[in-house]
Amino acid sequence: MKIDPELCIACEACLPYCPMAAISMKGDVATIDVDECVECGVCFRAGVCPVDAFVEEVHEWPRSVRAAFSNPLTVHKETRVPGRGTEEAKTTDVTGRFKRGFVGITAEMGRPGVGVRFYDVEKVAQAMAKSGVEFAHDNPVTFLMVDKSTGKLKSEILNEKACSAMIESITTVENIPAVIKALREAAAQIETVFTLTISTKLEADGSALCEKPLKKLNVPLYLNGKVNVGLGRPLFKEES
Ligand code: SF4
Ligand code: SF4
Repeated sequence: MKIDPELCIACEACLPYCPMAAISMKGDVATIDVDECVECGVCFRAGVCPVDAFVEEVHEWPRSVRAAFSNPLTVHKETRVPGRGTEEAKTTDVTGRFKRGFVGITAEMGRPGVGVRFYDVEKVAQAMAKSGVEFAHDNPVTFLMVDKSTGKLKSEILNEKACSAMIESITTVENIPAVIKALREAAAQIETVFTLTISTKLEADGSALCEKPLKKLNVPLYLNGKVNVGLGRPLFKEES
């Protein structure tokens, strides 16, 4: 994104709209810190500039990864999904990926309003890999890995920045303590924030096998259920 200095009238209306605080006044024009800008397009789409001074740019690789992860109107070419580019955690009732005894663990990095550099995504992904998770297949972060067994990302993107990125994985209930330990260690080494989503199938009595180990590890749980209203056709056979 850039601002045409010939058009800007320094009204400052755009300043509060940037989630990365990348727009500032330099003398009598607004400018964008290109290193902090994640190419989310919010300033452009907000339509607050009275003189249409914002100019959306198309970037080459590796900078193009910023819009791919930050602009909800950009479609990830590998997954063909816009936004964060993943439907994996949202389609479990159709795919049946999380069988009994397994959980999905997703680290959602950079939200809210902090942003994330890919070198920090790599640190968390490497910690998760070491703890023995398997990364989700149709996930944009997984597509950026040069080695799925270690979580190593393509070196040219490491300093790029995005609004957020989701590392999705699957592991066994028994392995939860190892993953949480690894994530706690990684959290101390990064410059941003992440939240964890643990996805699981419920038992017949409404309990979840992962609750006990998570509580034992003092991981605070905020339950968030999903109800299948029958719009997705299950592609798997229910376990007996
Ligand atoms: S594209 Fe997004 S990050 Fe960049 S200046 Fe505009 S609002 Fe800020
Ligand atoms: S809203 Fe437009 S004119 Fe006003 S400071 Fe921002 S870029 Fe300049």
